[in-house]
Amino acid sequence: MNHPLDAQEADAAAARSMRMSFTMHGIGASDGIAIGPAHLVSYATLEVAQYLVPAHELENERRRFLGALASVREELSELRASIPAAAPQEFGAFIDVHQMILADATLSLAPLDLIASQQCNAEWALKLQLDQLLEQFDTIDDAYLRERKGDILQVVERVMKALSGKPGYIPRPAPGSARPILVAHDLSPADMIQFKHAAFAGFLTDLGGSTSHTAIVARSLAIPAIVALHRARDLIRENDQLIIDGTLGVVIVNPDPAVLAEYRLRQEALGIERAKLQRLASTPAKTIDGTPIELLGNIEGPDDAAEVRLNGGMGIGLFRTEFLFMNRDELPGEDEQFEAYRAVARAMDGLPVTIRTLDIGADKTLRGDGNRSSANPALGLRAIRYCLADPPLFHTQLRALLRASVHGTLNILVPMLSTKQELLQTLNAVARARASLVEEGVTLPARVAIGGMVEIPAAAIALDMFIKHLDFLSIGTNDLIQYTLAIDRTDDTVAHLYDPLHPAIIGLIAGVAQQAARANVPVAVCGEMAGDVDLTRLLIGLGLRGLSMHPAFLLEVKQRILKTQLSEISALARRIARTRDPDRVRRLVEKLNS
Ligand code: PEP
Ligand code: MG
Repeated sequence: MNHPLDAQEADAAAARSMRMSFTMHGIGASDGIAIGPAHLVSYATLEVAQYLVPAHELENERRRFLGALASVREELSELRASIPAAAPQEFGAFIDVHQMILADATLSLAPLDLIASQQCNAEWALKLQLDQLLEQFDTIDDAYLRERKGDILQVVERVMKALSGKPGYIPRPAPGSARPILVAHDLSPADMIQFKHAAFAGFLTDLGGSTSHTAIVARSLAIPAIVALHRARDLIRENDQLIIDGTLGVVIVNPDPAVLAEYRLRQEALGIERAKLQRLASTPAKTIDGTPIELLGNIEGPDDAAEVRLNGGMGIGLFRTEFLFMNRDELPGEDEQFEAYRAVARAMDGLPVTIRTLDIGADKTLRGDGNRSSANPALGLRAIRYCLADPPLFHTQLRALLRASVHGTLNILVPMLSTKQELLQTLNAVARARASLVEEGVTLPARVAIGGMVEIPAAAIALDMFIKHLDFLSIGTNDLIQYTLAIDRTDDTVAHLYDPLHPAIIGLIAGVAQQAARANVPVAVCGEMAGDVDLTRLLIGLGLRGLSMHPAFLLEVKQRILKTQLSEISALARRIARTRDPDRVRRLVEKLNS
């Protein structure tokens, strides 16, 4: 099949060889314009980024390489241990060969020397060694030995892949110089969160969808980002000059001076607009007819709470605690978690803080969980299922949450509920955690509100099953869309089908809002729909009074609320929820926003 991007890619490849300007299109994952030099992040390929590591980072680079070797060693041992007894003997022998290759000094020690003496990044050092080995193989006549070349490539691929899970040094820009833009084939949410404090201006990936957790974390960095570019990692070279327009999903590589000047102007204008919005930070969020809307922030760690306050958020609607558990070998213990939750409670100074229990699984994995992967991880052991399958892990988190609840207005939110049994088991687990603390003499508030996420269609359709056991609800539209429409939110090949305005989605949200109102249970939206200003009127028109989003969207959404007469839009929003023709839905939403 001819890929629709083939022509574009051929042009781009030709243009690149002449260092001409070319343009690529993807899906905008985080708004704004960034301009800067490309920095390539390596991934599981043998075409690797090559850069010099500064002297003060060499020790880290060495450790990164050793860490990757260790995880591949572990991977191979796990693989060896999991071979079924009935499997042919060659399976085991094949893994033994890979273990021997991995242990060989050419691949395990020599790269360390290259890192130290030549200041090569780990991938580059490994690649140099690989090239040397492969050259020797090409001169060998023996067919058996020549076959081992494939084994060496496979082992090196594994190490490269492990290295990509721990991306390397990101050049710190010299004072006054432009911040780099990261270009990667794919980045996991765990990679992304590591970049949180690194100075870079934007990121581009070949894979991914706009509501993948990687994109969500990118938005939380408040930098422009584009996903689903397909071949960016192949076509863009280190230090190519890039303009990225995260709103339109456009990348311009090596732009002409006139284009560059135009984008600099646009970038400046956006900055001025943002500064103007900041004036709304302390204005209460209510419609023209006086209905208050609770605007809350989504965070990934305690440090993010400051940004929520800065942008006038009235609390935390979703703390994704799983990010505390990622990128580390040992899981955080009770005290460490308690401190993180208490820090958020304190930072919010009495405002509500909704902390979600661990939502690990699917694209958010813990180190060492590699062997848990299944063919459909989003449908597997994820979120509350994961926690209920690991009682000590869950107990530790619940104790930490309950202890922290003394320090603020803390609510516990349970992700991915799909059965009543899960909810009852969870409530039981909370009661056990509470009893264990009381027994130790810890004083706790009489009640800590417990809410459930509505993000699986079953929960939305059979909400009755849960609602009487819960203090509040939060609609996770990212997963609700993924599971209702059967669209993997991380898969760029189906990203065009991921549609928040699908009549089934609007119908489910409207139904949940109605039932919650009847049962007098507060309901908010905490998926990415909540931060999309074009959906604000639809959501509040359907009866939602709480919206939790990345802090960068709070002021724009507030501005829209301040310009909305609820009495004028509610009937139209309800009509949209009854409409089954998708084109008509779109036209009516445009009308709602006009
Ligand atoms: C959601 O699914 O909408 C949600 C808020 O949870 P997450 O994005 O972390 O899966
Ligand atoms: Mg979710």
